[in-house]
Amino acid sequence: MSVEKMEFQAETKRLLDLVVNSIYTNKEIFLRELISNASDALDKLRIESLTNPELAKDEEREIFVIPDETTKTVTISDNGIGMTRDEVITNIGTIAKSGTKDFLDKLREASGAAAQELIGQFGVGFYSAFIVADTVELLTRKAGTDSAVKWTSDGAGEYEIEDCEKETHGTIIVLHLKKEFCGDEEYNFTDAYQIEQLIKKYSDFVRYPIKMNFNVKGDKDGESIVEVRTVNSMKPLWSRNKSEITREEYDEFFKQQMHEWEAPLEIFHIKAEGTVEYTALLCIPKKAPHNLYYTDYEVGLQLYSRHVFIMDKCKDFLPEWLRFVKGLVDSPDLPLNISREVLQQSTEVKVIGKALEKSILRQLEKMLKEDRDKYEEFWTQFGKSLKIGVYNSMFDQKAKDSLKDLLLFKTSYEGKFSTLAEYVARMPDFQKKIYVAPGKDAAAIERLPQMELLRERGLEVIYLTDPVDEFTTNVLHDYDEKEFQSITREDFELDDAESQKVKAEVEEIAKTHGDLLKDVKEAIGDNVKEVRLSSSLKSSAVCLVTGEGGPSLSMEKTFEAMNNPLFKATQILELNPNHAVFKKLENLHALGKDAPEFKDLCTTLYSLALLIEGVLPQNPADLANKVADLLTK
Ligand code: ADP
Repeated sequence: MSVEKMEFQAETKRLLDLVVNSIYTNKEIFLRELISNASDALDKLRIESLTNPELAKDEEREIFVIPDETTKTVTISDNGIGMTRDEVITNIGTIAKSGTKDFLDKLREASGAAAQELIGQFGVGFYSAFIVADTVELLTRKAGTDSAVKWTSDGAGEYEIEDCEKETHGTIIVLHLKKEFCGDEEYNFTDAYQIEQLIKKYSDFVRYPIKMNFNVKGDKDGESIVEVRTVNSMKPLWSRNKSEITREEYDEFFKQQMHEWEAPLEIFHIKAEGTVEYTALLCIPKKAPHNLYYTDYEVGLQLYSRHVFIMDKCKDFLPEWLRFVKGLVDSPDLPLNISREVLQQSTEVKVIGKALEKSILRQLEKMLKEDRDKYEEFWTQFGKSLKIGVYNSMFDQKAKDSLKDLLLFKTSYEGKFSTLAEYVARMPDFQKKIYVAPGKDAAAIERLPQMELLRERGLEVIYLTDPVDEFTTNVLHDYDEKEFQSITREDFELDDAESQKVKAEVEEIAKTHGDLLKDVKEAIGDNVKEVRLSSSLKSSAVCLVTGEGGPSLSMEKTFEAMNNPLFKATQILELNPNHAVFKKLENLHALGKDAPEFKDLCTTLYSLALLIEGVLPQNPADLANKVADLLTK
């Protein structure tokens, strides 16, 4: 039998170091993590055996936890699916997840509680063994094969892997405990009673028996005999009565079963008996996982039938916009051996899904009304999903209607979150439309030239700072029969009498400056569709607006980022007729439309308008030279 020495993948090494030395302050959780892996392995075997009965005959599926004072070890064993040699190398020797580097970078910046949250989102389950052990041995044999491997590591960078003998399939993990966990200090993980308490605390609902050996005194001669006892109750929490379940029990459940690091923000325990009978136990987590909107995030609920686990990550219950909801559905109306394909078609699943969606919507509405702080906390984490939900229900008015009152936006009103209804309630009588402005952040929007006028009139603007915001308001089109109006679109104008007066004045000026505007446009070329005068600029000389249909400049950026550079915004340059630069433009125009001074000023103004929008002009060096020239003239 040859022993092979291998190195952990570099990222894994760094993660291990962090896990062991800084992140986990709660030393006990290693047991929960390893038991949860064992339970997953038993699930996998059960599912495999549905199609391959040879794999697991009538044996009882169970987990054993054996603390041992003499060897100073804790052993966790399961008769689950086990792993092949290759699986051990990829699952245990590597962290094969694509976001690892990203994650580590974030982790290094975070500290304390923030770091704990991050690690919880990532899930480094198995490695938590090294919190308490200086050497970890893992023996495993994949069900259906007869070769076993032994993996050993001190968690310091290398591991050994060798072939070995193992009588049955499944996995045995032996933790050689660090000295401080053998009784000298706070913890003694060689003590059966401490371990028993940990199992009860963290793993009580695990759906397989977790067994331990206990020494009990024999009747006759007082010699001790060993008794095997199941430590966990195994009773699924969701089958109990809501009124009998404490919030702590719910929290613990989600931490254990759904691999949540923190107690959830909101819990839904729904029981229904009707055409379809089911129980659902769902939660909205406190924090959004870092990869929630990436393809590697696995969406979906766990599915049970009469308390028996059927499958994980069922996508068919909830709509895409509820991808952040975690939990399970247990329904006796679904057969045990249902396949993913059948599930997709199942009317029961559709009925359950619709009902769950309704309950969640109702609960969110209630939260918004009754606990604004909590709702804003929710919104900060998952608001994007609801906005995507609106976008995705482009052609489904009912779906849009059910979501529109749940949307929050930051606005220029005290910079706070606002619902659309709250915004509309603050609109002055003459305001007919809902003003929105796209931008990188609130500060960038505040700096838009158009904002000056709105500020002066005391008009409120909704900030569209997330790329999805503009798509969402476009799809909504209006709220309470008031259209959304972007202040950076060509058709933006204020409805009050004063603005209308200014507009009429500007139109008069435009009449006598037709040639100038035409020649400015010619000097700039095809990048702009039109050059015209603005009636909404105050102290700024120029601004860019975009054509009514089609994407805006920020949408164009989003498309570009998505490698979709074909969707271009139609740009219109607006000049402020009351600005000194306009006078200068007139003077230079008098030299002739081909005069280099005139042309330079035109292209410079256009470049400046682009810069205001956060777009770099095509030739920044040229702009810099022209500005330097202007400064010295
Ligand atoms: P996670 O459980 O979040 O995937 P872990 O680091 O805990 O991450 O485990 C990595 C992988 O190793 C698991 O996904 C599983 O495939 C495998 N594994 C861990 N423990 C066991 C076990 N007891 N039996 C079989 N496979 C296991």
